[in-house]
Amino acid sequence: MDAKTCLRKLQYVGVLAFATADSQGAPQIRNISAIHYEPNTLYFFTARGKNFCRELLSDGRVQILGYTKYKEMIRLSAQAVPAPEAEQEKWMAAIFTEQPYLANVYPGDTREIGIIFEIKAGNIEYFNLGTSPIFRGNYTFGEAEAALEKGYKITGSCIGCGTCRTHCPQCCIEPGTPYFIQPEHCLHCGACFENCPVKAVARL
Ligand code: SF4
Ligand code: SF4
Repeated sequence: MDAKTCLRKLQYVGVLAFATADSQGAPQIRNISAIHYEPNTLYFFTARGKNFCRELLSDGRVQILGYTKYKEMIRLSAQAVPAPEAEQEKWMAAIFTEQPYLANVYPGDTREIGIIFEIKAGNIEYFNLGTSPIFRGNYTFGEAEAALEKGYKITGSCIGCGTCRTHCPQCCIEPGTPYFIQPEHCLHCGACFENCPVKAVARL
């Protein structure tokens, strides 16, 4: 798995959930399908009068979520910015061509109320619940910095009792000194953290 494949999978999903934060910091989420994909860039359409647009212009942080029929969750965290003025028309034309329903929503010149945002860099979390053990990965594209690690880690305080291993639903803890969590198969469920008798499991 890699960032490029994840973006391709988002494209196949088609309708994605876009989450932003409003002026009170409350989560706001919408389904968006007016998206055009280039290999390393997403372009999407909204109208300038919508709260969604206001939130993007004032903050810009967005999380985009897609879920495939194979139980793959793909979450993209990024900063969206308006596409350059000189490119607005080009990407709007591309989106309206690829999504013919938009011509009903914004017929003729009424689409001029629209604005195209672009995402050229971001962090992607891929989480596949359809395999055994489950698989997760983190990827970046563009010039995004790697995201902070999530989940759990076994520290040097481990006494090797094996209790965490017996409680792990994915059997993804290997014996060793200290014991070791395979992060690509970890659910982040916290069972190891709760059951370690010497508090050797740290939350990242
Ligand atoms: S339960 Fe704690 S001490 Fe025991 S093996 Fe796991 S991490 Fe180490
Ligand atoms: S968080 Fe859950 S899945 Fe991950 S290692 Fe601990 S017990 Fe296993």
